[in-house]
Amino acid sequence: MDADLLKESVLSYLDRSGGLLKLAEDCKPFNDPQQSEAVYRFCISVNPLDVMELDPLLGDCVLHDPLKATALFQSVCFLAIKTLSLIEKIHTESQVNIILKLTHLPPFPEYTLDLCAFNRGYRPMRPVAMEGLVIAMTRVTKYTQGARFLCTEDDCPGSTGFRHIRVHAPGATESATVRNDFSCMICSSPLKEDVKFRVLGDKQLVELIHVKALGNLSNNPLECYCFVSPLHIDELCNSMRIGQLYRVLGIPAHVHQWPNITWNLHEISKKFEALLKATGCSPWRFSAMVAYSFASAVIPPGLFNTLKLCLLLSLVQTRADATDTFYSLDLLVLTTDTLILDR
Ligand SMILES: [Zn+2]
Repeated sequence: MDADLLKESVLSYLDRSGGLLKLAEDCKPFNDPQQSEAVYRFCISVNPLDVMELDPLLGDCVLHDPLKATALFQSVCFLAIKTLSLIEKIHTESQVNIILKLTHLPPFPEYTLDLCAFNRGYRPMRPVAMEGLVIAMTRVTKYTQGARFLCTEDDCPGSTGFRHIRVHAPGATESATVRNDFSCMICSSPLKEDVKFRVLGDKQLVELIHVKALGNLSNNPLECYCFVSPLHIDELCNSMRIGQLYRVLGIPAHVHQWPNITWNLHEISKKFEALLKATGCSPWRFSAMVAYSFASAVIPPGLFNTLKLCLLLSLVQTRADATDTFYSLDLLVLTTDTLILDR
């Protein structure tokens, strides 16, 4: 069997790289009898080059099919935990939550993600390296790493044990992990969360912009950067600083599900279409031009560009019929010259 051979390679990689010893160490804190958890989370360092040398098929899997690779490591780690009795109270494989941390990636262009391309909708589902400047970040907040659900039907085998374990997937929303409308895989009755088993973790969202966006600023009189890409930072909370350049390794994921912005193409004026066509060579030029000439009847073009861009973004983001103000973009403007702005 293909999978069995791959699992053998995982085991020998863990053995050679010291991963097994680390696993045994990481299991120790979980043996506190006071504590019961739905999932046990382990971060495993993986050097793709070493894996490639050991087993090219497994190496390929680690680099291009991270979900499958994680499942292989999960299976092997569960077996190791059971065989070596590392955690007594673990019951099922689904309680093992494995995070594969790649130490580096091959130095080829396909393993580097251009942040501009990411913004245009290109989202590879595999590890890539990204480089960008941090322009904003959220506070550190809690999220559910794993939860245990029980069947509400008393006679169902799903009403006890650890058959229904939900684990947070990178980029997923909280409601994908914890919700009250999941149903039992055995009898389809509603599931109820056993909250005392919930495992919480820290997360932080960081927005990166491409360095080129800054270059555009310095030789372009229009002050604008319109590129943002929220990153979900798990392990490195509070370790990044605004204004610094970072290289991040990870799988790009869609973190926020903003309502889709749609418009009717027929209502867009010819001038706008022409402008969009003419500025297609750069991802920032169109927004810059629009901001530049926005409200030119009251403000001379070129003044307060950043503010005008923010107003435009706010207009795009805020819909008249929106009952949910969560998605509105509120603006707070501080200035010494209120005369022009009042208009
Ligand atoms: Zn059931």
